[in-house]
Amino acid sequence: LDSRLPAVGTTIFTVMSALATETGAVNLGQGFPDFDCDPALVDAVTAAMKAGHNQYPPMPGVPALRQAMAAKMQALYGLRCDPATEITVTAGATQAILTAILAIVHPGDEVIVLEPCYDSYVPNIELAGGKVVRVPLVPGTFRPDFDAIAAAITPRTRALMINSPHNPSGQVWSAEDMRKLQALLAPTNVLLISDEVYEHMVFDDQEHQSAARFPGLAARAFIVSSFGKTYHVTGWKVGTVVAPAPLTAEFRKVHQFNVFTVNTPMQHALAAHMADPAPYRQLSGFYQRKRDLFREGLAQTRFRLLPGQGTYFQCVGIESLAVAERDLPEAEFCQWLTREIGVAAIPLSAFYGNGFDQKVVRFCFAKKDETLREALSRLARL
Ligand code: PMP
Ligand code: GLN
Repeated sequence: LDSRLPAVGTTIFTVMSALATETGAVNLGQGFPDFDCDPALVDAVTAAMKAGHNQYPPMPGVPALRQAMAAKMQALYGLRCDPATEITVTAGATQAILTAILAIVHPGDEVIVLEPCYDSYVPNIELAGGKVVRVPLVPGTFRPDFDAIAAAITPRTRALMINSPHNPSGQVWSAEDMRKLQALLAPTNVLLISDEVYEHMVFDDQEHQSAARFPGLAARAFIVSSFGKTYHVTGWKVGTVVAPAPLTAEFRKVHQFNVFTVNTPMQHALAAHMADPAPYRQLSGFYQRKRDLFREGLAQTRFRLLPGQGTYFQCVGIESLAVAERDLPEAEFCQWLTREIGVAAIPLSAFYGNGFDQKVVRFCFAKKDETLREALSRLARL
């Protein structure tokens, strides 16, 4: 078959989770919690189903959920947006990003991604017939290089994709970074896809700098959120896209022929749950404690800790481990770590088009403390 995506295999997250299951390893690979969501959220789904919310909701999503999202965007980021024309509920951030790209990218348009980047971005751009332009984040620090981004912009640049807090590095863009980006894009027509799925996991007293806070960015942005991350329900696959009305109109043209709409009872449950801001306001503190527990344990091992101020991921260098396997390519090292040490991780090379290998792997710490302690005791053997 003449493949549309010849370079694509099964995602690294699926591969590593399958290996973790097969070998009984502690799975710190694929990003998802090993603890359950608030039982009230499950009760709210059941209540929505019993109340008869079991048929198609409106194409852009249940109005109450869009209204709750609009209220949150205003309360947290000062953005006033119209739920009728500027917010769409999606089947997770994954569908949001693909749909945004299909809605705006013409064949031959250039789309800039900052590497390392989440694994769906590049195949999404390719499916739209776009040309992927890769700009590296600064090696070692994973900070944005604005000169390099500026140099990559051409008259064919249709969009730039950013992701803060950043998967896999955990780096968080500052307000100054966002202001620089705003100034850089001001004289252009470049659209922005701002992947903010980890918006509520920001540590060390920093604040999430949503594109929504910067009028020059919000006016050109698709702002992508995911309830899966925020409420410990990655399997529900519900997210949102906030974008100015003309962009949302184009987004919905694709959305209605892609999924048309997203499951009804979960949307009602999420809308009810959002009335209380405490869960998302407390999430950073919740994950910061887990990050600190995990980092303190890793500091007792030979892994080199990389800085991280957001997401539920911790990256580590493997170059000074006391085993010969440290010299393996990252992907093979992760296979070995899973099989022999009993802890699954994700190689950073999976986030690069050319498989760049810097001897760094990613662990997910969205786990019960006991799971983290078990993983740490295994990792201490290295
Ligand atoms: N973007 C990033 C950076 C992610 O880490 C993820 C989740 N792995 C997604 C998008 C997709 O989110 P969802 O599960 O809501 O589709
Ligand atoms: N976003 C998750 C991660 O980075 C994985 C989601 C998926 O498996 N597609 O681990």
